[in-house]
This record gives sequence, C-alpha cells and structure tokens, in this order.
Amino acid sequence: MTKVKPEFIDQVKKLGAFDISACYNCGNCTAICPLSNENHSFPRKLIRYSLLGIEEKITAAPDLWLCYYCGECSDTCPREADPGGLMMALRRWAIRKYSLGKIADLFYGRISSWLTWIILTFVASLGIIYFRNPHPDTAQAVPISFIGLDFLHTAGLVMGLFIAFFALAHILIMLKSLNKNSSLPSRSPQKLLTSLIKVITNEIILQKRFRDCSESDRYLPHLALFWGFAGLFLATILVFGADFYGFPEISRLFAKIMGIIFGLILLYGAGYFILLRLQRPNNYSEYSHPSDWLFLLWMFLAGLTGFILDIFKWLNLPWPTYIAFAFHLVIVFNLLVTAPFTKFAHALYRPLALWLAGEEESPSSETTT
Ligand code: SF4
Ligand code: SF4
Repeated sequence: MTKVKPEFIDQVKKLGAFDISACYNCGNCTAICPLSNENHSFPRKLIRYSLLGIEEKITAAPDLWLCYYCGECSDTCPREADPGGLMMALRRWAIRKYSLGKIADLFYGRISSWLTWIILTFVASLGIIYFRNPHPDTAQAVPISFIGLDFLHTAGLVMGLFIAFFALAHILIMLKSLNKNSSLPSRSPQKLLTSLIKVITNEIILQKRFRDCSESDRYLPHLALFWGFAGLFLATILVFGADFYGFPEISRLFAKIMGIIFGLILLYGAGYFILLRLQRPNNYSEYSHPSDWLFLLWMFLAGLTGFILDIFKWLNLPWPTYIAFAFHLVIVFNLLVTAPFTKFAHALYRPLALWLAGEEESPSSETTT
C-alpha cells in the first residue's frame, strides 16, 4: 500500500520549492521541458507526488536526476510555481535521503550546514598545524618541506577510502530505492554494458543532455566545472605516482601543465556559476541553498589557492608559499571529504539514474540518428 506523508511538501519547500503549492496541474512544464519524454515524464508527475506526499514514488523515480535545471519550465509556468526549483529541491532532498546515517542532513540545515563546514575547517587546520614541519626550508619555497609527503600520502589514502566507502554505500541505498520502480527497463547484461559506456561518454565526458537544455550558454561552464576538477585530480595523481609509485619523472611536467590548464578551466566554470547565482537571471537559481554556494565557493577557492601557491613558489617566497599551501589543503579537504553528502554527489547519482533509466542518449542524438 502506498504511504502518504502530508508533511513531505513542507520538507521540500524548506529546501527551495517555496512556490510549488500554486501549481494547478496544467502540464505546461512537462510539455515544454526539453528532456522530458513519454518514458520519463517530468516535472508535473513529481509535482503531484510531492504535493500528495508520496515519498516512495519520488525516491523510486530516476526522473529527478534527469533534469538539468535549465529553468525553462519555471519561466513559462502560468502560476509562477517554479517547477524547476522543485526539481532542484527534490535533488537536495534525495541527497539527504540516500545518505548513510543521515549524515547529509548536517549539510542541508540552515545553521548546521555553515556550522559543519566551520568545524571541518577547524579540524583540517588543526591537523595541518599538528603535522607541519616546524622547521621548513626557509631558503627556498618547497611546499613539501612544510607538510611532509608521507603525511600527505597517508591522508590522501585515508580520505580516498572514506569517500569510496560512503559513495558505495550511497549507491546501494539509491539502487534499493530505485528497485521499487517496476517501470525501469530490464535489459540483458550486454545491453547494460553498452548503455553504461554511452552514459560515460555522452553524459559524464561530454554532458550532452546539459547541452540540450535550452539555456545552452551554461553548457560550457558546466563542462568546465567538471573537467577543471577532474583534470586537477588527474594531475595530483600523476604527482603522487611520481613520488610514490615509480611513475616516470616526465609525469611531473605533465602534471604542471595540466595544473595550469585545468586550474584556469575550473576557475572559469566555478566563477561563471557563482556570478550567475548572484545575478539570478529569469527564474534560474531564484533561490540558492547554502549547500549550492559552498560547493561553488570551495571549487573556486581550490583553483584560486592552487594558483596563488604556484605564484608564491615561482617568486621563491617560502612563507607565503607555505601559508597558501595550508589554505589550499584545508579547502581541498573540505571539498573532498564532504563530496558524498553535498551537491557534489549529483556527479554520482545522475549518471547512475540515466543508466538505470535507459536514458543514455541525449534527445538531440535521438533525433539525429
Ligand atoms: S508547475 Fe506550472 S506549468 Fe507545471 S503543471 Fe503546475 S501550473 Fe502547470
Ligand atoms: S528545469 Fe529544465 S530540464 Fe528541469 S524540468 Fe524544467 S524544463 Fe525540464
């Protein structure tokens, strides 16, 4: 029997869907949505479920991850009910719902979100103060003489295991929820594999569905945000590989070049979305939750402190380099350790939902093939 939770809509409203009660179910939003189709029809269906409080149907629907928040439905809603804002709020709600031990709740409360980030910053700063070398090289700027490589290596491995554990747990929780959805396509292992490859190329690497949203000027910045971060992550692995796992020395040069290119790309992507949220054109991001701001700010600051660190190092200013390095590490720690519980997690949930929903092709690919 389907359980109804009347209080559900109030929970989602607190996460940003303030105007959704004005909806009178005309269906205009679904008709106009460039990504909705007969198999996955949204946002109207999810609006009905939300207003009725049928939580089970929402957690079992991959549809909330198929929306890229272009805002077109909100721009054209005759009741100004902001259906795009509801989709965004439902994703915030789902990140909390899929979180092991409800840890993600900490990042979505109005006060607890800021408090949690402050505590994490404090803990990371204490760690750096405690594990720093009190006598770093002061004749020349060598960041690893300030924080030893062994510490960085161990901390990196522990953090990697922590993230992998929670990411896996959250995937399993999401799968369990989606499993209740009998309308998901059942496919042979071979088709599932082909679909997975398409999702990885079309949606993770090229993000074609985002391009299909009408506000396609956000496509390149969104791609930049993803690739800027992914490129810097790969550059860090190259440096670690050279330091610990016998990668050829040329890896360092590659890492340096990648660091500059992907750092600039990350600053462009994160900077663009910060400005967009400040300007709030049309109905896009009418409301930004603290979790949206913090995700973008940490991304931007991760790129910025990386550059500042490199500039000080290049100018051979030891103490400014070490201080910039400490700031950089704190920001990267905050960004990574919270990834499974914050907006960052959509990078995991969305491809998974697309794959299970059999939506590996973007609408424009479907019409051209
Ligand atoms: S959100 Fe707006 S466009 Fe969508 S069904 Fe409701 S009233 Fe119609
Ligand atoms: S925000 Fe865009 S992608 Fe999302 S439901 Fe509305 S029209 Fe569709």
